[in-house]
Amino acid sequence: MALKTAQEYIESLRTLKTRVYMFGEKIDNWVDHPMIRPSINCVAMTYALAQDPQYADLMTVKSSLTGNTINRFTHLHQSTEDLINKVKMQRLLGQKTASCFQRCVGMDSFNAVFSTTFEIDEAHGTHYHENFKKFLTFVQDNDLTVDGAMTDPKGDRSKAPHDQKDPDMFVHVVERREDGIVVCGAKCHQTGSINSHWHIFMPTISMGEADKDWAVSFACPTDAEGMYMIYGRQSCDTRKMEEGASIDVGNAKFGGQEALVVLDHVFIPNEYIFLNGEYEFAGMMVERFAGYHRQSYGGCKVGVGDVVIGATALAAEYNGVEKASAVKDKLIEMLHLNETLYCCGIACSSQGFQTKAGNYQIDLLLANVCKQNVTRFPYEIVRLAEDVAGGLMVTMPSQKDFTSDTVVGRNGETISDICNKFFAAKDGVSTEDRQRVMRFLENMCLGAAAVGYRTESMHGAGSPQAQRIMIARQGDIQGKKQLAKDIAGIQ
Ligand code: SF4
Ligand code: FE
Repeated sequence: MALKTAQEYIESLRTLKTRVYMFGEKIDNWVDHPMIRPSINCVAMTYALAQDPQYADLMTVKSSLTGNTINRFTHLHQSTEDLINKVKMQRLLGQKTASCFQRCVGMDSFNAVFSTTFEIDEAHGTHYHENFKKFLTFVQDNDLTVDGAMTDPKGDRSKAPHDQKDPDMFVHVVERREDGIVVCGAKCHQTGSINSHWHIFMPTISMGEADKDWAVSFACPTDAEGMYMIYGRQSCDTRKMEEGASIDVGNAKFGGQEALVVLDHVFIPNEYIFLNGEYEFAGMMVERFAGYHRQSYGGCKVGVGDVVIGATALAAEYNGVEKASAVKDKLIEMLHLNETLYCCGIACSSQGFQTKAGNYQIDLLLANVCKQNVTRFPYEIVRLAEDVAGGLMVTMPSQKDFTSDTVVGRNGETISDICNKFFAAKDGVSTEDRQRVMRFLENMCLGAAAVGYRTESMHGAGSPQAQRIMIARQGDIQGKKQLAKDIAGIQ
């Protein structure tokens, strides 16, 4: 089957019976819901750009499984060049949406599950790798969006899965049947869950023998019986519900989405199971997925950063301060920080290696350094954006005030007249354009989009401490001690 168009993707979501809840109620037409639709538009961009000949090399690739042309978001990386192109594609998507475009979690799970299942089969004589290859061929052939679901609620963090008071704190097998398994549990803050066709579930931590029933990975359709989602709020999200909302939303076209995904006795047929009790491989799957997703942030956040920097430069221009040396210097600092993140994304890709299964894995140390920098630099970029833009980005009257004909002045001036008079930009720039750029920055720095740029930079793909553990493990302090001993003449 050919690549889907953006419209075909959106229409395909309407055929699913996905159960979505928001503000305490079931949402039937979630595809057109004003708070959800921007996140669907965002994923749709991964389809739209794949149709554009200008981006064909980046967005499409030959499948290693079928030889057909597929969307890179469904690809198994075959070389370090593929890994680099993945990061470049993510930067491009970030530039085009200024949002989290969600589809990467699926791509990263494909690559992690592909290589891990190969090694499980090798050790246990299981058939998970064949299962997975069949599933991925189906995904590629139908150009599907798949959510990679990892983060369990975890309950008491000091306890292993089997030790939790409530066993559902980690997704687990509650029944084993001849033809499959029944699973219960939940995954928290799942990016792009509602607008995915399918989900791949993976464990979230390394596990011991007592956690056997929690060491489970599988695929299931998003509208599977027993599965539902409760939509996550974002800062200022109800602005999207206001009549005629556009300027005040900031980025009205695109956005991300996260949800609590609940599995209430969901049946998984054998052919969709990729791990089932081989607990010693849970850690490998987690580490590989996390590694890919930490690489991803060296692309997507850089693309979003490009738009933040552009908006900051525009705000400076509209305020008439673009030539001030202090402003120029702050923009240079923003560029420097943003490109440093890109360097990390490219570096961990170029140092990638081939797994036993044949696909390519990133350099783990460099990917963790990449994500550790992402937990810091976007914060500094946002600080500088707020510094340059000025306080108006958070104090400006509403869009409605700028068009209101309510008379307030002694000479018959309306609220609109007054707002447009006192919030005028420099000559030649409309007040509306100044409003737009300020609200956009508000949205990116601390509004709904801040989920995808700011806080996601901290916690997405693992919180900072998770990277520090990996950096400690991979950093080879012993080897470095030896280097010092050799040169200092210490026996
Ligand atoms: Fe993709 Fe970035 Fe969103 Fe993760 S945070 S799904 S890498 S856009
Ligand atoms: Fe993320």
